[in-house]
Parts: sequence; structure tokens; C-alpha cells
Amino acid sequence: MSLRDHLIARIDADGPMSVADYMNECLLNPKYGYYTTRDPLGAAGDFITAPEISQMFGELLGLSLAQSWLDQGSPAPFTLAELGPGRGTLMADLLRATKSVPGFHAAAQIVLVEASPTLQAAQQQALAGYSVQWEDTVSSLADTPLWLVANEFFDALPIRQFLRDGDGWREKRVGLQQGQLAFGLGPSTPQPALDHRQHDTQDGDLVEICEAAAPILATVAQRISKHGGAALIVDYGDWRALGDTLQALRSHKSTDTLDDPGQADLTAHVDFEALAQVAQTAGCAYSRVTPQGVFLERLGITTRAQTLAKQLNGPALDNLIAAHQRLTHPEEMGNLFKVLGLYPDQTTPPPGLNA
Ligand code: SAH
Repeated sequence: MSLRDHLIARIDADGPMSVADYMNECLLNPKYGYYTTRDPLGAAGDFITAPEISQMFGELLGLSLAQSWLDQGSPAPFTLAELGPGRGTLMADLLRATKSVPGFHAAAQIVLVEASPTLQAAQQQALAGYSVQWEDTVSSLADTPLWLVANEFFDALPIRQFLRDGDGWREKRVGLQQGQLAFGLGPSTPQPALDHRQHDTQDGDLVEICEAAAPILATVAQRISKHGGAALIVDYGDWRALGDTLQALRSHKSTDTLDDPGQADLTAHVDFEALAQVAQTAGCAYSRVTPQGVFLERLGITTRAQTLAKQLNGPALDNLIAAHQRLTHPEEMGNLFKVLGLYPDQTTPPPGLNA
């Protein structure tokens, strides 16, 4: 049986499923899920992420978090956590870059929140030599000060999609047409969670909500507001989302979202406004949403690249120059990806971000 057959049987029995249920099955089904069964990252995989492009990304995020820890009086012990750490590359670069920050490593209890057993194994390899704890969910994070990073984690969480229909909303669903997976629309119903979108949308507009993000972010923000800490959330998206942003990637090419269930990565843009609101409700301050390129330049990526360049020549030097450009240039990842910082009220945001 394939995931497609499993989905068809499920829809046959229970009726059409939400886009969120479809995403969840495709990404995390224990037997067939995309993340559960493979390491999708890197040049040979389906997509490449910032920490896989260059060590500079993890290094600079690490130094921003470590400075924020120093600014808040170096509390010890504290939890140093990452959500969805992929191959563990970002955390390895972060730890190498912060080795000489006095007391930081000694006080840090490293926790990786990872749903995929395959990627947990890769992280174990990347972080050999460090004492690391794995958790399936953020609810298991200790009640301590928390410094946390999440790169391309929230875009992998399942979204629901709604089409505006008068004062109501019709949910986009995955059903069957002639025995094959096909999108359809549910009946028009009121959606109180979308009341704030009544004034900036019109009939036929599509909006997305990510219900899974709120409890995760609320837990993170509660730890930070209660005990101190900071979070750096990096992802693609905008302050307020409009339109269908669900996309499937396979071998670095976009494919139809229903064509390869479980065989392609599925993501959606992150609605940073929704994240910021959850953080605020939990008592946290949040930074301005800052383009990744601006954030990395403020943290000194050009100086870091120049230092690394001194030891390189030939193709390695070309790679470094290309990586710098890819991470920061507005037409590459520099503008598409944004950074949101969370930090306790009455303290300053992590370096690279403005209040
Ligand atoms: N941060 C990494 C990987 C991004 S891919 C990088 O930048 O390279 C998304 C990561 O989130 C993967 O590690 C995936 O297994 C993990 N993930 C996806 N959904 C998750 C969930 N619900 N809970 C925990 N981890 C999840």
C-alpha cells in the first residue's frame, strides 16, 4: 500500500479531509510520512535550507542568542532549544561559534524538538560530543529560562485553507474525483478565528490558518516571559498572509501538491502576525519582522565571510561568495525569509532585531 492508497481509503470511509489533515498525513504519517521516512535536506535531497548553505547562518544566530543571554544576566541553568533541527547543522554551528562565550555552554541544557526518528539519528551524529536531549513536542520543555531557535519549522506545520463566501467561509478540502485525490470546497460556515479578516478580504479570497502553531508558540513564549530567554524564528512568509501558499517541492522543483503524497515536501508561508499575537497574549514582547538579509548583515555576515575567505581559494572561495549572496540578497533568500524575535517585556531584543 502507498500513502496515496491509504489516503483514498480514508477519504472513501470518512469523507473529504482538511488541507491540514492532508499535510499532516503527508509529512508525519508514522509509516509513509515524508519527514518520518527520509532526510530530505541538501543538494541531493528535495530542498536546501540556510544552515545547509553556509556555516555562517548558524554561527550568527548562535552569537545573537548568546549575547541576549549575556544581556539578561547569564542565567544558569537554561534550556538551549531548537525546533525541527533537520540534520543538526544549525545547532552544531551555533555551539561551535559560542564555545568561547564564558559560561554559556556550561549553563546550556540542549534540547532538540524533532518528530522524525530518521532526522533524530542525523542530529545525533552531527552533535556527537554534546549532551543532548530529544523531545517530540515543546510541551516537554523544562520550566526554565529558554533560548530557542527555529528555522523553517513553522512552514512545515499543517494549515487549513478557507475561501471567503459572503460573511462565511468555505474550507478547501481534499476529496476524491473519479477515484483520484482532488481539491473541493466544504459548505459555507462562520469562522470566528477569521473575524479579523472580514475587513481586508473579499469574496473568493483564500486565507490560511495554522492552528498547530499557536500552542507551540504559547509554550515557548510563556517560558520566556516567566523565566527570561529569547526565540529567533526564521521562515518564509509575511506579517499577514493572503492567498494560497501551499507548495510541494521534490528534487528542488515545485510539483503539484496532490501528485506525490509523502514523496514531496509540503510547506506553507508563515503568518508572522498570528505568531506575534500568540506571543503577546502569553506576555512576551516581539521584535519587528526583519528580512533575513538585513538581520544577517546587522550581525556582521560580511565581516565573517571576509575572515573565512582568507583561508580559501578556487571553488571553495566561489562557494563562500555564492552562499553569502544566497543568504542575504533580496532576490534570493534575503527578503523572502523573515526573522521574528521574542523576548521578555522590558528587555532588549536579541542583536540583529529592533523592538
Ligand atoms: N531547521 C532545519 C530543518 C527544516 S525542515 C534546517 O533549517 O535545515 C523541518 C524540520 O521540522 C524537520 O526536522 C522536520 O522533521 C521537523 N518537523 C516537522 N514537523 C514537526 C513537528 N510537528 N514536530 C517536530 N518536528 C517537526
